[in-house]
Amino acid sequence: MKKALITGISGQDGSYLAEYLLGLGYEVWGLVRREPASIRWLEPVRQRVEFVYGDMRDAESLGVAFQKAWPDEVYNLAGQVFVPTSWEFPSETFDINVGGVARLLQIIERTKPDTRFYQASSSEMVGNFDGAMDERVPLRPTSPYGVSKLAAHRLVEVYRARKVFAVGGILFNHESPRRGPEMVTRKITRAAATWVAGDHTPLRLGNLDARRDWGFAGDYVRAMHAMLQAAAPNDYVIGTGVSHSVRDFLQEVITSLHELGLRDRAPRSIEEWVQVDPRFLRTGEIHDLRADPSRAKKELSWHPTVNFKELVRMMVKADLEVVTEPVTRP
Ligand code: GDP
Repeated sequence: MKKALITGISGQDGSYLAEYLLGLGYEVWGLVRREPASIRWLEPVRQRVEFVYGDMRDAESLGVAFQKAWPDEVYNLAGQVFVPTSWEFPSETFDINVGGVARLLQIIERTKPDTRFYQASSSEMVGNFDGAMDERVPLRPTSPYGVSKLAAHRLVEVYRARKVFAVGGILFNHESPRRGPEMVTRKITRAAATWVAGDHTPLRLGNLDARRDWGFAGDYVRAMHAMLQAAAPNDYVIGTGVSHSVRDFLQEVITSLHELGLRDRAPRSIEEWVQVDPRFLRTGEIHDLRADPSRAKKELSWHPTVNFKELVRMMVKADLEVVTEPVTRP
């Protein structure tokens, strides 16, 4: 039985990956910073996961966790993931996102160099680029978060040159009902559910014209696993190949509400629902991110299974269920 250690197991991707690997028969170990209060999404598989304490900023705790798990594969999904927070706390973002990777790679090389390492690299490394992005585009990040991801990605490359099987998955935005509520998609679907429940406070957003290639996180964790099973370590771009604007996302949410029979309770228009608030506009905004995942499709046989419309609907339905109570009140 193969053993996997997942950092960031309590987050969106960690929970989907844990479910996927357990389904494949893996023994799954999860690195956690504190006792399982934040383990909500893992509840269904909690009994089947071994939890070990560790903090990405603390080499000793990572070393101890690694010794206990003694994994065949490490999936590094822990990190400070929110771009605006990286402007508020750039050095902490670096310590976790870059220092953490340096610590893990050093532990692997020194103690068990045949362990395979997956790094959650990001489309934010690319910065502004015209057109679909493959693995060869120049990387010019525009935020401390993007720079931290690029530094970690380069570390993966230099350890790979030293024969560690280490890969960077350049994942474009991936969402689900488990997405953090600060990210724009989940912020919108939660607000939609609140509106339907009768609270008509306007939704305050930033740049409605920003475009992202939004896919389903459950699809993307399959790509992570596939990268570590390949014959040789390589970096891959993972995305759907289609981008939409924040405005498109809002419109699709309204359409989903109509299709779910909630036309009367849905916002009548984006204008009625949303107010642009300059506080949410960004320095170093990336205007359009769109993946060209051809290499992953060809070499890993990876394909996304959930399209934009299905993703929006899935998220809207899940958030409506959370606020069903007020909806059914007279
Ligand atoms: P990111 O691509 O990793 O930064 O993911 P986000 O979901 O945080 O942001 C996606 C895009 O939505 C960015 O271009 C943001 O500028 C834009 N956006 C517009 N309004 C908001 C908002 O209120 N919150 C967030 N998080 N993003 C917003």
